[in-house]
Amino acid sequence: MKGCSKHIQQIAEYIDGELDEALCTRLEEHLKECNNCRIMVDTLKQTVVLCREGKKERLPEDIESRLNDALKNKWEKKFGKKS
Ligand SMILES: [Zn+2]
Repeated sequence: MKGCSKHIQQIAEYIDGELDEALCTRLEEHLKECNNCRIMVDTLKQTVVLCREGKKERLPEDIESRLNDALKNKWEKKFGKKS
């Protein structure tokens, strides 16, 4: 895989929605062809959810699943639904 390590910080920012649009596009190009980084995104997303849960005692289950759905929709919009 080409240059995955440099994407790790970008992936974190990407998940927080703080990544530059240009960088975002480049990262998404990379994600399309890099399974490793896609797994990283998934893992980080889960971590982010868990962290937010930790801060606020516990997220109600419906909010948590709405958050997951939102992430999933966002993902599918960007990368297309995998069937
Ligand atoms: Zn990669």
